[in-house]
Amino acid sequence: MLDAGAKGGPMSQLYPFTDPQAAAPRRIVSGHGIRVRDDQGREFIDAVAALWCASLGFDDARLRRAASEQMAELAYYHSFMGRTPAVTERLADRLVARLPAPLSQVFFATSGSEAVESAAKIARYYQSARGRPDKMRFIAREGAYHGSGQMSAALTGLSYCHTGFGLPLPAVLRTGRPHHFRDAEPGESEIAFSKRRARELDALIRAEDAGTIAAFIGEPAMGAGGVILPPEGYWAEIQEVLARHDILLIADEIITGFGRTGEWFGCETWGIRPDMMTLAKQLTASYFPLSAVAISGEMARAIGGFAHQHGTFGHGFTYGGHPVGSAVALETLDIYEEMDLPAQVARLGAHLGRRLARLADRPGIGQLRRQGLLAAVEMTRAEDAARVAAEAEQRGVFFRLIGPVLAIAPPYVATPEDLDAIMDVMEAALDACA
Ligand code: PLP
Repeated sequence: MLDAGAKGGPMSQLYPFTDPQAAAPRRIVSGHGIRVRDDQGREFIDAVAALWCASLGFDDARLRRAASEQMAELAYYHSFMGRTPAVTERLADRLVARLPAPLSQVFFATSGSEAVESAAKIARYYQSARGRPDKMRFIAREGAYHGSGQMSAALTGLSYCHTGFGLPLPAVLRTGRPHHFRDAEPGESEIAFSKRRARELDALIRAEDAGTIAAFIGEPAMGAGGVILPPEGYWAEIQEVLARHDILLIADEIITGFGRTGEWFGCETWGIRPDMMTLAKQLTASYFPLSAVAISGEMARAIGGFAHQHGTFGHGFTYGGHPVGSAVALETLDIYEEMDLPAQVARLGAHLGRRLARLADRPGIGQLRRQGLLAAVEMTRAEDAARVAAEAEQRGVFFRLIGPVLAIAPPYVATPEDLDAIMDVMEAALDACA
C-alpha cells in the first residue's frame, strides 16, 4: 500500500467526500454484528449503519450464503433485449407486491445515484409518452441529497456537491427545505411553516410554468442534509400543490426505504402517494450494489406503449438487476419479514427515543429528532458537534457529522444494549466536550 509521499505524491486513492489533505483514512478490515474493526485492532460501533445502509450489520451468514449460491448458479446475466435472470424477475414480483400503491413496476440499476438518474429520465420519458415533451425540468429542495451523477448531483441541494463541477444544471429548480427548527419564522407553528413551504412551491411553479416541469423529487425524511423530518402537514400540502399543477412526485427512499422510519417505506409513515420511488441501500442490506426505480401503473402503461412505438425502451445498465444482488435482496426481504421489520424498528426506536430524551436539558443541544431508527442530535453550534463526533470516535462509536447534526441510524440488528452503548458514548462525549 502506498502512503502519502511514498512516490513523492498524493495517496493512491482519491477518496469520495473526503478532504484530500486530511489525515490518512482509518482502514477497516473486518466487521461483525454492528461493529467494525480497523487495521490497528480497534473496534467501533457504526451508529449510522455505515452510509445508512448496512441494515443487517456486517457479517450476516444468510446473505453471504445467498450471494455465494447465486454466484455458483448464475454469476451474471443482463436484462436487455428479451432476456433476464430468473432471480431478478422473482425480485421484481416480490417488490411490486410489497410497494405501496400506485407503484406497480420496477426498473433495476446498481447504485442509488443510478436509480435517481433513471428516475429523472423515466419521468421525462413518461411526459413525452403522454404528449407533454415540454415538461422536462425538475424541482428539488435545498439540503436534499440525491446522488453523485450529473443529474442526481444537480438535484442535490448541497453546495459542496456542486462547486467546481459545473453544477447545478439549468433543468433543476430549487425550493426550500422542510427544516422547521432552523428555517421557521419566530413563533411560526409546524403547520403554518408547512403551508408556507407549499405556498412558496406554488409560487415557483407559477413563475416557471408548470408546462415545463416533469417532476418534484424529495426524500420523505432528508438524510444527508441533516436528518430533517417533515413538519406536521408538510407532505399533504406539497402533494396538493403538485397534483394541482400536474407534476409527478418522485419519493427518494434510498435511505428511508425498507423499515428505517418504522414502516416498510417512509411514504407510509408520512402519507405520501408517489408516482415514482427510488430504492437502494437497505434493499440488499448493502451486501451487493443493487437499486431500483418503481413507477405507477399509469406510467408503466404509457411508457410501454411509447417504447413499443420506438422499438425499444432505450435505457439500461450492464449491471442493473444483477443476479447476485437480486438473490441477496430476496434473502434480505425474507429476513426483514421474519423479524417483522416495522415492529422491530418501532420497538428499538422507542428505546433509542428514551435515551435521546435524556439529552434534552443539556447545554448546547438544539433539537432532538427521531422517527423509527432514524435520529438526529442537532447541536446549536456546528463546532461543538464536530468536537463531540471526534470524541465519540475516540471512544469507539461512529456518528455521522452533518454541520451541527450528529446523525444516528443503527442497523436493525442492534440490541437495546447496543443502543445503550451508543448513547452512553454520546453522553460521555458531550460531557467531555462541555
Ligand atoms: N438518494 C439518497 C436519498 C441518498 O441518501 C443517497 C446516498 O446516500 C443517494 C440517493 C445516492 O446513492 P448512491 O451513493 O448509492 O449512489
